[in-house]
Amino acid sequence: MKCPSCKAKRMSAVELPEGPKAFQCGKCGGHWIPYSAYLMWLQEKGSIEAEVPYTELEPDIQDSTAAKICPECGKFLMRFKVGHGLNFFIESCSGCGGVWLDEHEWGALRNRNLHDELHRVFSTSWQKQLRDEDREQRIEEAYLKRLGKEDYQRLRDIHAWIQEHPKRNDILTYLQ
Ligand SMILES: [Zn+2]
Ligand SMILES: [Zn+2]
Repeated sequence: MKCPSCKAKRMSAVELPEGPKAFQCGKCGGHWIPYSAYLMWLQEKGSIEAEVPYTELEPDIQDSTAAKICPECGKFLMRFKVGHGLNFFIESCSGCGGVWLDEHEWGALRNRNLHDELHRVFSTSWQKQLRDEDREQRIEEAYLKRLGKEDYQRLRDIHAWIQEHPKRNDILTYLQ
């Protein structure tokens, strides 16, 4: 099997720590996980562990961005942002569902208990949630820029106060 990332010709069979059987590239350190191996492991594992909350510790990951071809079926791999505090992308084959992880990505996913949710990261709902969060953040940043730090903070306080107020509707009507 050829490495989809660095094109090295030899990948060796390994077992990922607390994970499925996979193939590792001796040159770039990335992992190829055949979809069947992932599903079998997930089934044996039985349950999905709760996600570990995001801490500021960001793992040092060299995320590869070049387009890749599936080493199993030759289709293109699609990139999916992980999110939830992890700023790298993981890749999945549009044909066979195999997964490509750059070096250290498995460890980073495992630390956050997201290693058993790869199939969810590739889902439309996961990706939509990330886009919604991105959009919200951009809106917040735009307001912060427009209003300045002090007024923006005051606006947020007022917003929180109104949200929890039992006479919220009266206040909103008055403001309009
Ligand atoms: Zn490689
Ligand atoms: Zn494939």
